Amino acid sequence: MLSFPHDDIEAFRRLIAEGSFFALTCHTNPDGDALGSTLAMAHWLREMGKEAVVIVPDMYPDFLQWLPGAQEAVRADKYPEKASLTLSMADVLLCMDYNTPSRTEQLESFVRDAKGKKVLIDHHLDPEPFCDVTFSAPQASSTAEIVFILIDALGGADKLTKAAAECIYCGMMTDTGAFTYNSTRPEVYAVISRLLAYGIDKDRIYRRVYHNYSEGRLRLIGYSLFKKMRVYPEHKAALIFLSKAEMAQFQYIKGDTEGLVNMPLQMKGIVLSCFLREDTEKSSIRVSLRSVGSYPCNRFAEQYWEGGGHLNAAGGSFNGTLDEAVAHFETALQAFCP
Ligand code: 5GP
Ligand code: MN
Repeated sequence: MLSFPHDDIEAFRRLIAEGSFFALTCHTNPDGDALGSTLAMAHWLREMGKEAVVIVPDMYPDFLQWLPGAQEAVRADKYPEKASLTLSMADVLLCMDYNTPSRTEQLESFVRDAKGKKVLIDHHLDPEPFCDVTFSAPQASSTAEIVFILIDALGGADKLTKAAAECIYCGMMTDTGAFTYNSTRPEVYAVISRLLAYGIDKDRIYRRVYHNYSEGRLRLIGYSLFKKMRVYPEHKAALIFLSKAEMAQFQYIKGDTEGLVNMPLQMKGIVLSCFLREDTEKSSIRVSLRSVGSYPCNRFAEQYWEGGGHLNAAGGSFNGTLDEAVAHFETALQAFCP
């Protein structure tokens, strides 16, 4: 099992006992783990008699709408004043699923300047030391798994509800591609076994996340693989790139390209997959990287895409046109020594 220093657990216990108003934040473009871990912690704090407000930097994908409590999350891009006020007033600020405040984008300065005590709960490498208590476990499958371990270590598992367990399961499932990567530690399944005891229906959660797409999304995937994928056998790599206009053609909504970057890895021999898409909200290119084995996506992201992440899943951005990003990828692929 993951374990954390006794002193940190006790410090967290004191913060929970003494605080009454908790703000919870996650990274921009919240994924299933960011939102699931944050909502789960909020559910549990409420069961502990605390006030807990979840703030998301921007919208989460449509296939996470069903997560219990998602509708109440405050969108900082829509309600910036409420978000900043909440962060400034909180007794305790929980920083979930990110390792540096810059991952919250427009909330960064409010997170840094918040007067309350700060607790980081995360599984990304190299956490920035900006919190009073830091629970960082890069070996964990997900931040959601850490949430369960922490609540259990605090003796609070009896205050977990089915709703919270669903959020935790969703985080663990989505951050491991439904337990197909980063999920070999036996403890992952010990946690799942515990979650099932809260009455969650794991198969239903799977369907709600992965079988919940529009016709447009499925056709966009087909189009991307047929028309917009380049394969570089000499580099064991593949690239998919999409413009805003192409996405609009398929009635794109946020989340529709989620998972697309994993697909080229289904080809025999491919170890690196890159997905470039024009950002629908900003004038830059979003970059997603996935790999298998020892190919370090995070180093590739750091060196060429102003980003970072994990060994096998990383991301970043590129300032320029889509064509320039494609050219940059092809140059980077030649130059990078994995
Ligand atoms: P995704 O491809 O799903 O957007 O991101 C995959 C992973 O890459 C994320 O879980 C996160 O760890 C990392 N990541 C994505 N975008 C960025 C970025 O702009 N900066 C950094 N440091 N990491 C990122
Ligand atoms: Mn995560």
